[in-house]
Amino acid sequence: MLSDWLDLTLGGNAGAIRTGRLTTGSFDCQGPGILELTPEAPVSGAHACVISAGIHGNETAPIELVGELLARLEAGQLRLGAPLLVLLGNIPAIRHSQRFITTNLNRLFRHDLSLEGDEPERARELMASVDDFYQRHADLPRLHYDMHTAIRDSRYPRFVVEPFADSPSAPLQWQWLAAADMQAVLHQHQHSWTFSHYSKHYHGAQAFTLELGRVAPFGHNDMTALRPLRHLLETLLEGREPQRGDPARMAFFRVEQELMRHAEDFRLCFADDVANFTEFPPGSCLARDAVAGDCVVGEQPLAVVFPNAEVELGARAALLVRASETPSGETRC
Ligand SMILES: [Zn+2]
Repeated sequence: MLSDWLDLTLGGNAGAIRTGRLTTGSFDCQGPGILELTPEAPVSGAHACVISAGIHGNETAPIELVGELLARLEAGQLRLGAPLLVLLGNIPAIRHSQRFITTNLNRLFRHDLSLEGDEPERARELMASVDDFYQRHADLPRLHYDMHTAIRDSRYPRFVVEPFADSPSAPLQWQWLAAADMQAVLHQHQHSWTFSHYSKHYHGAQAFTLELGRVAPFGHNDMTALRPLRHLLETLLEGREPQRGDPARMAFFRVEQELMRHAEDFRLCFADDVANFTEFPPGSCLARDAVAGDCVVGEQPLAVVFPNAEVELGARAALLVRASETPSGETRC
């Protein structure tokens, strides 16, 4: 039954299953796309784990990954050892294979959100479910992986975005993520109201956005490339200690600047299909904006991530990033 949860939710029959039992715990569907799994016997050292997918509706690989995990749990191939909250983000957008319906859900996760509409309402439901979950498991360390895929190719197909917040990321996370075959890490330089930022900023969770290859329709994702990540997630939901890899295997970057769109008359100076993390040398013109003028690379090269000239006025058209040092390998968690 649990393995039907995705199909029922996306088919509009989320109410068809409410609660049920697994060999090693139970599950509770708390609302459309909101599924909590509770172990019979939590393992010492387990985390309160939040796994989210489909915050952007056309990013299907993470949804397929969630489906694999639930099927393996139901089949008894995995033993539930940690409380786990599984969230499907923008259900109408997933049904329509669209990034969003009205507005980008992944900029709405803030307590002072005043917008009205379907996506803001969904953000409120998801925030409330995370608040409630972490509150009920207040004695456990908090973890949240929000899984996405990128619109374009990338020099590093699988990369981590570390949200900006006052609480630091545990160095152990870099070891886990390296073992999960993530290839790069991007440190955000300021608050950005994404879902992973929400869990980090408001709950002090170890929280990251994971970009897992390029957008593709259901059934066309390379799931074998995500096996090492699946292994990390399986280890966490079993409450076991994850494998560690060497963080030096990953490339680390820091956001230097956000390139904002100010004018109707705005264009990026490079090809539409340029890959994420493509580097531009000093003197390169990156954008022409009738209000803000040209954006030109200064004395140090800059790489471009998430470029999109079609954003609304006043919104971010690209992140400009620079390589940074590998964090120290200290292992506190
Ligand atoms: Zn996304």
